[in-house]
Amino acid sequence: MIRVVFSRTLLGFNRLSVCHYSSAAIPAPNTQPEVHYKKLFINNEWQDATSRKTFPVINPATGEVICQVAEADQELETLDNGKPYAVAYTVDLPNVVKCLRYYAGWADKWEGKTIPIDGDYFCYTRHEPVGVCGQIIPWNFPLLMLAWKISPALATGNTIVMKVAEQTPLTALYVANLIKEVGFPEGVVNILPGMGPTAGAAIVKHMDVDKVAFTGSTEVGHLIQQASGASNLKRVTLELGGKSPNIILSDADMEDAVEQSHFALFFNQGQCCCAGSRTYVQADIYDEFLERSVERAKRRVVGNPFDLKTEQGPQIDQMSFNKILGYISSGKREGAKLMCGGEVASDRGYFIQPTVFGDVQDNMAIAREEIFGPVMQILKFKTMEEVVTRANDSKYGLAAAVFTKDIDKANYISNGLRAGTVWINCYDVFGAQAPFGGYKASGNGRELGEYGLENYTEIKTVTIKVPQKNS
Ligand code: NAP
Ligand code: MG
Repeated sequence: MIRVVFSRTLLGFNRLSVCHYSSAAIPAPNTQPEVHYKKLFINNEWQDATSRKTFPVINPATGEVICQVAEADQELETLDNGKPYAVAYTVDLPNVVKCLRYYAGWADKWEGKTIPIDGDYFCYTRHEPVGVCGQIIPWNFPLLMLAWKISPALATGNTIVMKVAEQTPLTALYVANLIKEVGFPEGVVNILPGMGPTAGAAIVKHMDVDKVAFTGSTEVGHLIQQASGASNLKRVTLELGGKSPNIILSDADMEDAVEQSHFALFFNQGQCCCAGSRTYVQADIYDEFLERSVERAKRRVVGNPFDLKTEQGPQIDQMSFNKILGYISSGKREGAKLMCGGEVASDRGYFIQPTVFGDVQDNMAIAREEIFGPVMQILKFKTMEEVVTRANDSKYGLAAAVFTKDIDKANYISNGLRAGTVWINCYDVFGAQAPFGGYKASGNGRELGEYGLENYTEIKTVTIKVPQKNS
């Protein structure tokens, strides 16, 4: 039943024309859309929190309250997030639609095996749903994270209780309405806006939740794994932070490497788990690369996210804004060379100037910790052996990149890196078909692609005795 309903969801998306992303022109944005859906979405109904509590949703470009949303507690995208409208329209949305379509295709293809065991038996496996899946998502890609989570879960027949980030509940609640409109059975998808320590934690320790999929900070990742251990050993998959090395060899195409490295760090206001936030540049091109990266950062257009020329909008909230400014101070204090930016970029909203640090050393906090903002760290290296060792000297292992024209060097480095994804001469290239996830403290499990289905499946082995004689 879920499978049929899932296809109908996609028809729903088509009908609502959410996916006209391939047209060259981006339609003018409605900068003040009405917000209709502000409650908890449980069993296909809009419900107030039992406590009747609500919380404000803030527009990060102005710091003003957009609306109040019902807050789930131990009861169980441009306006909202600040990302440039053009990016939401041409990057997030097409990838959301692609992810849903891709996994809808898997719904009737996720097959078990027949297994030739010893003896007179017929043995086969069935791929069955895990059951009730708790899914907890962050604010940096609200709709895309929702799609990455619900698509494989639904394609394999599970039900979902999703806690969306407190900062960005609005697009998920809009999707909830589409889910109801296209006729999902009650209770298959439930969406709870609310706070992590209450609504999120309640899902994670619940004895009837069979699995939790989480994307967010490594710190909360630890709490999730612990809560699983303390409750019912629910399956846990984690997609956490990173401090991803981006390695530029001296034979790389300079112009392309500068532009891609800029994108690798500054995309989405620097708020990407896989941001290329340690840019290692080989010594003989270091000065030119640094100079060109600074020129590029100075040209970055920061401003109103609804303006189609804007490349960088505000940071998500005050806390994140303060944290990023704190890292900029720490970089200066620890002796990194501030090459440009470093200041607040407007007198209201959470805008920060595109910032580049040169002469960064591996032991500085800005080279070790996740900043999650528009702050680029450029480090110098001499040999490939050295850069692989330094790149791996991190608790994280989410992504990495190498820029070179020499395939042997590219293979040497990509094989040596302890990271879930390595991009060669490109960055942030995602396919719904290709798995994504982290080594080490960047998480466990893989999302997307065929591998992503494994997270949502229990494998049942069925063995049947085959009589050898007709009786
Ligand atoms: P976070 O606290 O890890 O939040 C991610 C999600 O987990 C949110 O829905 C959050 O709820 C929820 N949560 C928080 N505490 C929880 C708990 N005890 N039990 C269950 N769920 C819980 O991340 P953040 O506060 O948004 O950002 C902090 C840092 O995390 C960032 O600066 C960045 O370094 C990192 N981060 C990484 C990613 C990524 O893609 N890997 C995404 C976002 C942030 P609330 O809505 O109440 O926070
Ligand atoms: Mg939080």
